[in-house]
Amino acid sequence: MSRNADGQSSRSFPPLPERLPVDVFDSHCHLDIVDTPVQEQLASAKAAGVTRIVTIGCDLPSSRFAVEAAADFDDVYAAVAIHPNETTGVEDAVLRDVERLAAHPKVRAIGETGLDYYRDWAPKDDQHRSFRAHIEIAKRTGKALVIHDREAHDDVLAVLADAGAPERVVFHCFSGDAAMAEVCAERGYVMSFAGNVTFKNAEPLREALRAAPLDLLLVETDAPFLTPIPHRGKPNASYLIPHTVRAMAEIKGVDVAELCTAIAANGERVFGPW
Ligand SMILES: [Zn+2]
Ligand SMILES: [Zn+2]
Repeated sequence: MSRNADGQSSRSFPPLPERLPVDVFDSHCHLDIVDTPVQEQLASAKAAGVTRIVTIGCDLPSSRFAVEAAADFDDVYAAVAIHPNETTGVEDAVLRDVERLAAHPKVRAIGETGLDYYRDWAPKDDQHRSFRAHIEIAKRTGKALVIHDREAHDDVLAVLADAGAPERVVFHCFSGDAAMAEVCAERGYVMSFAGNVTFKNAEPLREALRAAPLDLLLVETDAPFLTPIPHRGKPNASYLIPHTVRAMAEIKGVDVAELCTAIAANGERVFGPW
């Protein structure tokens, strides 16, 4: 993590939570920008019952980092892509490099790709062209598609329907409402929930979680972002997933172990076999 002006990176990490009763994994993490060596992130995650991590690419350097980390560590898997915020004038050669990186057997997804109308850093035309190119890469390589959808729900769903979705689609940091969760469920899209589902003002997101079937649920940190309650504002890492999983179980009214078992099975179906 780069040091920002208010010295955020010097804030200390929260304590290790109680270990989950059944091992899960982190479906979406940025290992390269968490301010801890990968080996230590894996060790603390394991102690919390988070035994695998999918690390995500946002541009070519972070995608290369993801492939290298996956090659170096058994329990790390990679996703490669150009993030929608990074798509201004994106060249075909760059997209070909993404596809080349995706050939590595431990790359299990194309992502994060999609549409971001909240940040709006890249023109919509470029975002759409890149998103469609990534959909085709996922289909050609047979990998899952990991979608970043920020205030672009209708267009993301429309592009997927128009282009033809790959077999496995994951909405990372799911941010739709219950109606959208129902559409995703009908289409078999997987919904990955992050720490923001624990935030006070996130009732519509909790409604979405209640509407999402257990067999289409994943959990993620999006670390170093979106630290769950009770540690909101502190840096995030994969070992903090138990806070999110326990909150999710309570929201859905299921046993923590039952939810963990479902998440583990869903993960193997989407990103596996491990
Ligand atoms: Zn994202
Ligand atoms: Zn992300």
